[in-house]
Amino acid sequence: MDIHEYQAKELLANFGVNVPLGALAYSPEQAAYRARELGGEKWVVKAQVHAGGRGQAGGVKICQSDTEIQAASEQMFGRKLVTHQTGPEGRGVYRVYVETLVQIEKEFYLGFVLDRVSQRIMIVASSAGGMEVEDIAAEEPGTIVRATVEPAVGLRDFQCRQIAFKLGIDASMVQQVVRIMLGCYRAFTELDATMVEINPLVVTSDHSILALDAKMTFDDNALFRHPQISELRDKSQEDVLESRASDRGLRYVAMKGNIGCIVNGAGLALATMDAISQAGGQAANFLDIGGGATADRVAKAVRLVLSDQNVQTVLVNVFAGINRCDWVAEGVVSALHEAATDVPVIVRLAGNNLEEGQMVLAKSGLPIIRASNLKEAAERAVSAWRNDAAFRALPVLPT
Ligand code: ADP
Ligand code: MG
Repeated sequence: MDIHEYQAKELLANFGVNVPLGALAYSPEQAAYRARELGGEKWVVKAQVHAGGRGQAGGVKICQSDTEIQAASEQMFGRKLVTHQTGPEGRGVYRVYVETLVQIEKEFYLGFVLDRVSQRIMIVASSAGGMEVEDIAAEEPGTIVRATVEPAVGLRDFQCRQIAFKLGIDASMVQQVVRIMLGCYRAFTELDATMVEINPLVVTSDHSILALDAKMTFDDNALFRHPQISELRDKSQEDVLESRASDRGLRYVAMKGNIGCIVNGAGLALATMDAISQAGGQAANFLDIGGGATADRVAKAVRLVLSDQNVQTVLVNVFAGINRCDWVAEGVVSALHEAATDVPVIVRLAGNNLEEGQMVLAKSGLPIIRASNLKEAAERAVSAWRNDAAFRALPVLPT
């Protein structure tokens, strides 16, 4: 789960990370009012969306008066901000953060990520801050400093000092950087984050070090132990179908094709998507019903996939180990009875209670197309999507 910049800053500040003074606003009038409350003469208005690259996309504006703040906010509110991280559809702006303008002397990059190779938390830092980390890696790879944290001992001060010196930070400010790094590390581990990124971390003209931008991502599987983090979820920033799926305990990822897939397990999902593309089609989604799915859960999955306007064919491919084919079939049948759709549905079942499952499909009276293996299922789904001669010749249930 991702959170907004202002939320990440608030969390990190509780762990001793210095951030500029700022306040949140839900309207242009409120933004101007918040600036007055903050005081000072210059502010930055920042669109709150779950994506970086806002600066280059008009989502970060420097302002010197109430009227400028109102005008800058009006440009942002209610619009879709398109940055190189959002994709062409952009993300809606419903909140802006008003922050004191900081006099920047130098920008750095500081990131904490899970490194799967070393199975450690890795710190990635660079003196080429302000640019995206991918661009730093491509254009200024020599500036990148990496260090991994030994989990048994945690991040040590000397490691932080080493990184700070490698970044070229003046000795008088190293202690501030150490404090920030330790704070980020504690936030990362104590809140079950998978990523903490400060870009830029800045040295100001009065020699203090501040996090000017902050991004945090959390491990969804650990959210149950952090209700205060779960509350920060902002559904306006998520794909509608993806958030509806996660509310129903389904794992769903939207994709660009037209064949809706309902499968169990991520491995089978990937294999199904490969088989579809080998047969000449493209998956519209990746939906994993998980193990032990009840008929009700399967029906929810079918309804969710059918609610996607791009879906022109549905492929249900379940290899029942913990699941039961009859429950899967019941779920499919109940959703289709209710939906009365003319989208072709292909079902391939294997494993537990297969015969009972086939029986449920056969008795349903619905025009469900069966397939006996993955290859056939994918080919039939692609045929159905194309509505080609092979599809029209297929035996449809009931036979
Ligand atoms: P993004 O990464 O989405 O582009 P940032 O928060 O990093 O957004 O802002 C982009 C740039 O705007 C920063 O690199 C920094 O140069 C400038 N900036 C952001 N916040 C402030 C601030 N409070 N004071 C001065 N400059 C800022
Ligand atoms: Mg940034």
